[in-house]
Parts: sequence; C-alpha cells; structure tokens
Amino acid sequence: MLYLSRLNALKAPVLDRPVVILESDDWGPGPEVQVRALDEIRLLLSRFRDERGRHPVMTMGVILSVPDVQAIEESGRYQARYLNEPEFRSLVDILKQGAGEAVFDLQLHGMAHYWPSNLMTFLDRGEDVPDRWSKREGWRTESLPSWLQSRWIDAGTLPSKPLSYERVREAVADEIELFRCCFGMDPKVAVPPTFVWGDNVERAYGSMGVEVLITPGRRYPGRKGDGALMDSDKQYVNGQLVCGKMKALVRDLYFEPALGHRGDKVLEKISWKWSRREPALIETHRFNYLGEHARTSLDALERLLEGVMEKFPAVRFMSSRELAREMDGQGTIWKGGLEVAWKRLRS
Ligand SMILES: [Zn+2]
Repeated sequence: MLYLSRLNALKAPVLDRPVVILESDDWGPGPEVQVRALDEIRLLLSRFRDERGRHPVMTMGVILSVPDVQAIEESGRYQARYLNEPEFRSLVDILKQGAGEAVFDLQLHGMAHYWPSNLMTFLDRGEDVPDRWSKREGWRTESLPSWLQSRWIDAGTLPSKPLSYERVREAVADEIELFRCCFGMDPKVAVPPTFVWGDNVERAYGSMGVEVLITPGRRYPGRKGDGALMDSDKQYVNGQLVCGKMKALVRDLYFEPALGHRGDKVLEKISWKWSRREPALIETHRFNYLGEHARTSLDALERLLEGVMEKFPAVRFMSSRELAREMDGQGTIWKGGLEVAWKRLRS
C-alpha cells in the first residue's frame, strides 16, 4: 500500500495537447458591479473557440457568504450575508448562465474567506481594519489582512492552530449544502482559501464528494506568529490521489493584470508547461475585473487569449473538473480529444 501511494506521488500526467484553464477566485455576495464584470468576462470567453468548438473556461471559485459588518457592530456577534438571499439572485443567475454556456465552471472556495471566530476575535480586539474594508465594503474580503483570509485554521492567536476534524467536517457539510441550494448541484472542485489547509480538510472534502483539490503544488498548514504562511508540509503533482478519493491539480501560473502581470509573460509560462506536457492552470482573482482596473484587465485577458490561439493552435479548453476526470480515464466529453499518459517523475 505504501509502495502504491509512493508510486502515485512520483507520477504525473503527460498531455498530448496544450491545455489552458483560467482559474478565478473570490466571487461572492456583493454589489451588482460583479454581475456586470462576470457578464463581460462571459462574452469575452464566448468569442474564442478551440479546434473542437469549446470556449476557454474560467473556473469561478465561489465564496458563499460575507460578513454583515453593520449587524456585527450592532449585535456584537457574528452575522453574515449569504449568496442564496434574494439580493444576490442576479449574481447566482450570471454564474449559472456562464456555467450553462460552458465558459464558467463553479468551484467551492468556501462558506467564507475566513474562519468566523478568527474574524470576530480580530474585530473584538479593536485592531484597525484596513481602509478599504468597512461597513460598506465588508464584501471585499480580499482587503482583509492576508492571515485572516485563511479559512481552515484557528487564528484567534498567532501562530495558528489546526481546527478539529469535527468542526471542519461540520463546516464543509454546511458549505456544500449552501452551494447546492444556490446552484442546484454539489461542488466537485474545492479551492482552500490562501492555500492553507490540513489533513482534516482533505478528509472532510473527500468524504463529501469533492473530486478535485486545487493546489499551488504544495500545502501550507497554518500561519506563523507574524501572520506569514508556515512552511509547506506536503507537495502535490497533477493527478495525485488525495485521501484516496480526490485528485490534486497544480495551479501555479498567475495572471493578475491589476498587479502588472503581462500576457506575454504568461504565454512564456504556458510554453514552459507545454514543453513538460503539463496543463497550464492560471490563477486570476476577482479584484482585477472590478473598479478602476476592470477595463485594462479585460483588455489584457483578451490579448492573452488571442496569444494563446495564435501560439498554441492545438490548445484544448476545458474546466479543471473535466481535466481531472480525463486523467481518470472516466472522461466522456474529451474521449479521443485529449490523450493522457503518465510519466515517472525523477523526484
Ligand atoms: Zn481567495
């Protein structure tokens, strides 16, 4: 058994076509500006097709609730706004529309982009909240301190401690239920916020039907005393079995136009991935497509996709879920369209 699991860790899939997947995180309850942004992204993706007619897919890592800062201040206890509330109906609708058109694929990023008691301890301590994070802007959880954005840890005091399996399991069950309530289906792909998680989270996801775990190729078990990421305690390769139930995928290319990332550099990274016959999973967060950076980010995304089509005419577009299923030999949509072999890794 040990031999088999070690062997698995030393093998990774080899693709016969370049695969490019856009992976976007942090979409969740908030104002209409997100709906307009998603609609623009949807229309842009719809204009491109691979040889077999498939559009580029942007996976949407969905956050299911945000803090209700005003209610918290008034009541002194944790309260949140949830994605299934009528106010957020148009957001759910545009996500479902994009998924129906196969330009989006919906992934579970979490019930919240933090562990609620960590947020409450932070607020109770009266520490300064960031300027951009206030009553009105409470939905912008990406503006919280980075350590607070990790969900799967007890960070009441730093360094953080692991949460018990029972608490994690209960929380995962709640988020899966709300995801199902919003979208009418169970999440099959999970993206742990800030890539901080542990065995407890893998066990919980795996036991509740999640098939794919998005990783940056490693796992961070917690936060140090200064809030920085703890050193990674585990590495992952594409297709690696996790808890015997899920497959890991590696997302380690980055396209954040609002931070100055350029499409030509991303194309070089895609070439590098293709030279290794590995898929290119490209991280791009919500903040790029909102506010002052929205137009330039959309233009940059358009140029990136034009570059992909020109440089990789045999590219295959698909979701991360489809890629993982293809590795399993269970793919149907892609049967014959993407051959996956397995290579031994040297280390
Ligand atoms: Zn996130």
